Amino acid sequence: MRFDYHMHTPLCGHAAGSPTEFAREAVKKGLSEIGFSDHNPMPTQYDEWRMAPDAFPEYLALVNEARECVPQLVVKLGLEADYIAGFEEHVRFLSGQADFDYLIGSVHYITPDWDVDNPSKLERWKDQPVEETWKQYFRCVAESAQSGLFDIIGHPDLCKKFTHIPEGDLLRFYAPALEAIADNRVCIEINTSGRHKPAKEAYPNKLFLEEALRRDIPIVISSDAHAPQEVGRDFDWAKQFAWDIGYREVQRFSRRKRSPHSIADF
Ligand code: ZN
Ligand code: FE
Ligand code: FE
Ligand code: ZN
Repeated sequence: MRFDYHMHTPLCGHAAGSPTEFAREAVKKGLSEIGFSDHNPMPTQYDEWRMAPDAFPEYLALVNEARECVPQLVVKLGLEADYIAGFEEHVRFLSGQADFDYLIGSVHYITPDWDVDNPSKLERWKDQPVEETWKQYFRCVAESAQSGLFDIIGHPDLCKKFTHIPEGDLLRFYAPALEAIADNRVCIEINTSGRHKPAKEAYPNKLFLEEALRRDIPIVISSDAHAPQEVGRDFDWAKQFAWDIGYREVQRFSRRKRSPHSIADF
C-alpha cells in the first residue's frame, strides 16, 4: 500500500483541483491512503499563499467532502504549518482545532518577511552571503524540531530550491538540524516536488538522507501535490532512493501517532 501525506487545496491560492479530484486521482494511481496538508491560516493574512484566517472550517469541509465522495480511499487530515518564531502558540492553538492525523512543520520564512522559496523575492538572495542564509535556514529547521509542535519536518533543505548552494561539505549546515530532529524524535519527508524545481532534486538530498538514517530519523515519502496529476508523483523513484540509502520503513500517521510500514510493500 502506498500513501501520500502532502497535498494542497485551492484555499491556499496557488493550487488547482478540489480535494475530491485529488482523491479520485489517488485511486486511479493505486494509492490506498492520502492526506491533505494545506498551508496553515495565520491570525491575520500573512502572505498571499495560504488559506485565509477564517478559511479553516472550509478546509475541514473540503477534506470531509473528499472522504464522502471517494469512500474507498482513506483520507487523512493534516496541515502544513509554517514554523515562524513567535507563532508557536498560534500553531499549538490550531493543532487543537481538529482531529489531525499529523502536522507537517515547514520552514519557508527565515525572517518574518523572507520566505526563501518565494520566486518573487529572488533579489533577497543578493542581500547577504548564501552561507549566512543557509545557516539561518537550518537554524530554523532545528528550532522547528525542538518546538515539539510537529510530526514531520517538511522539505528539510528547501533553501536549495533556486540553486543558491554554498561551497564545500554541506554537512556543516545539516548536522545541527539533524541532531535536533533526532533528539526530538521527529520524522522527515522525502518531498519529490524538488525534482521539478530549479534544484532538480528531491528535498532532502542524498547526503542529508544518509545522515538522517545514521541517526535513525524516520521518513515519509510525499509529493507536495498542488494539482491532482501530481499526487504520488515520482514515488517509484523515491522508494528506490530511500531503499538504496538503506531505509526499510516509511511511517503512517493516524491521530498524530506514527507506525512503521515496510518500504518493500510501498
Ligand atoms: Zn504551496
Ligand atoms: Fe512548503
Ligand atoms: Fe506543501
Ligand atoms: Zn510545501
